[in-house]
Amino acid sequence: MQNKEEILFSAAESEFRESLRAFLEGVDAKKIEREIYERDFYPRALYAKLGDACFLAPVLPEEYGGRGKLVYEAILAEELGAACVPLAWIHSTSSYAYATIARYGNEEQKSIYLPAMKSGAKIGAIAITEPEAGSDVMRIKTSAERKGDEYLICGEKRNITNGSKADVLLVWAITNPVVDPAKGISVFIVESDTKGFEVKRDYKLLGGFPGTVNSYLRFDDVRVPGKNMLGGENEGARVMFDELSIERVLYAAMLVGEARPILELAVEYSMDREQFGTAISRFEAISFKIADMVTKLEAAKLMVYHTVRLIDGGFEAEQESAMAKLLASEAFYEVAHNTVQILGGRGLADEYPAEWAFRMARLSMIPAGTNEIMRFIIQREVYKGYKGKKGG
Ligand SMILES: Cc1cc2nc3c(=O)[nH]c(=O)nc-3n(C[C@H](O)[C@H](O)[C@H](O)COP(=O)(O)OP(=O)(O)OC[C@H]3O[C@@H](n4cnc5c(N)ncnc54)[C@H](O)[C@@H]3O)c2cc1C
Repeated sequence: MQNKEEILFSAAESEFRESLRAFLEGVDAKKIEREIYERDFYPRALYAKLGDACFLAPVLPEEYGGRGKLVYEAILAEELGAACVPLAWIHSTSSYAYATIARYGNEEQKSIYLPAMKSGAKIGAIAITEPEAGSDVMRIKTSAERKGDEYLICGEKRNITNGSKADVLLVWAITNPVVDPAKGISVFIVESDTKGFEVKRDYKLLGGFPGTVNSYLRFDDVRVPGKNMLGGENEGARVMFDELSIERVLYAAMLVGEARPILELAVEYSMDREQFGTAISRFEAISFKIADMVTKLEAAKLMVYHTVRLIDGGFEAEQESAMAKLLASEAFYEVAHNTVQILGGRGLADEYPAEWAFRMARLSMIPAGTNEIMRFIIQREVYKGYKGKKGG
């Protein structure tokens, strides 16, 4: 008889997960995560080890050494989230960047950037958000003006994960300012050592998010060769929405992973901790919390894997990836919030990762599109399906 995992995953997928877990245990990723919380360093060396061990970029086609499916990328995001949160965050925008280059790049772009990103030698970032363009992504002002064979990029990008550490940035900019932005945006591959690229500053979020950077970037007449345009002139909106679907579901996979050890902590702690002569797990006020946490997290996980299967099957999955991101971030928040409560006073101390997870979970509702925007997308897609039936 099959086990429950085999219903969801093929033997090759399960084997990938198992060998990845063994690798992460072997390098003591959990211990490194603890050290990062204490000393705040960026785990680039550990990321390179993941590349050396051939775990990075499984979404790439076989000719680039990948496995050609997003499901592997989701497994990778989930396991990294569970093993070492800062490592998962380095991988996050790198994976969105290499997945997008793999989908939209021409052969020259793929051969230049994908091997270096797969080996972990180069880190990627996604640069969409600007000081005046957050949820309303079509309001970007960064411009890319054509000058012969080159484009001159000018503007600012904010809140960019890995922004100051990245080697390769995908930068969205206006290439035709006189049309509807949806028809006048393009995306460029920009190398961070290009003249005119400047890191204005790195932010620390929620009182510290060790091991990660969130950057404010400036592009001051950055000259980019025309051949670095990804997906065609004025095709940037199409690439962006496709990228965001992939980003949201992989981000959701990472959150499902981040929540897993926190849930395990709540279960184990509640079995060990005794009050009123018994383990606190025997109080329904505690154990029913565990029931809700497990149920919501499992639902989020199923939504993640359903969505990546749709994308691997060639379906457009904007609604499903928004649902996955919404469910995963809210499940993670509930898990972290309840774990703090179950641990009582110790839940608030830095003795356990609960308080840190609580801050992470609060943070998780904003990147990749806020949860209000996720709800907006979901209802829009639902009503679209009814359009014409009832005065729609
Ligand atoms: C940790 C972190 C990492 C990030 N990484 C990246 C990255 O790598 N690359 C990148 O490009 N961006 C990144 N971002 C930016 C992120 O995508 C934006 O913060 C997000 O899209 C929201 O934009 P904003 O912060 O400008 O908020 P705003 O858009 O100003 O929104 C403010 C509030 O208004 C609400 N709101 C806005 N419009 C609507 C509406 N139509 N209906 C209902 N409510 C609405 C929002 O939900 C929010 O509550 C990151 C952000 C964070 C916090």
